[in-house]
Amino acid sequence: MDKQLKALFDSLRCPVCGAQIDLAGKGISRQYNYCCADNNNEYVLHISELSITHDRAIIYDRNNKYIIVQNYDVKQTIFDILKVDAEGNITDWNNKTVYLDYTLFDYQNTDKEKIIRRLKTVMTFG
Ligand SMILES: [Zn+2]
Repeated sequence: MDKQLKALFDSLRCPVCGAQIDLAGKGISRQYNYCCADNNNEYVLHISELSITHDRAIIYDRNNKYIIVQNYDVKQTIFDILKVDAEGNITDWNNKTVYLDYTLFDYQNTDKEKIIRRLKTVMTFG
C-alpha cells in the first residue's frame, strides 16, 4: 500500500465504535468505497486522492436513529432523525431532517455520545 494512503488509514477510525477502516465489500452502496471494519452499517466513506469526499454514519440511542451524511467537497451536512424502538426498528417514518451548509464533524477524537450531544445541540439552537 502507498505510504500516504497507509498514513491516512492509520489516522482514520470509525467515529461510532472506534474500529479501523476497511475496504468496503459487496453489498455496500457504490457511493462508498471504505467502511468500519467491525460494522459496515455504522460508518461508510468515500476516499479519493487521499481525502474523504463524503461519508455516512448511523448511530442509535434509546429512542432515535441518527443518519449523518457529510459532503466535504461542497461542505454540507444532512442528518435525519427517526424514532426507533428498543431493537432499533423504526416506529415512525416522519423523520426530521436538518440541512447545514458546513461540515459539522471532522470525526477526530470523538465517540457516539459526543456526536449525539452535538446533534441535539444543533437541533435545539440551529
Ligand atoms: Zn464502527
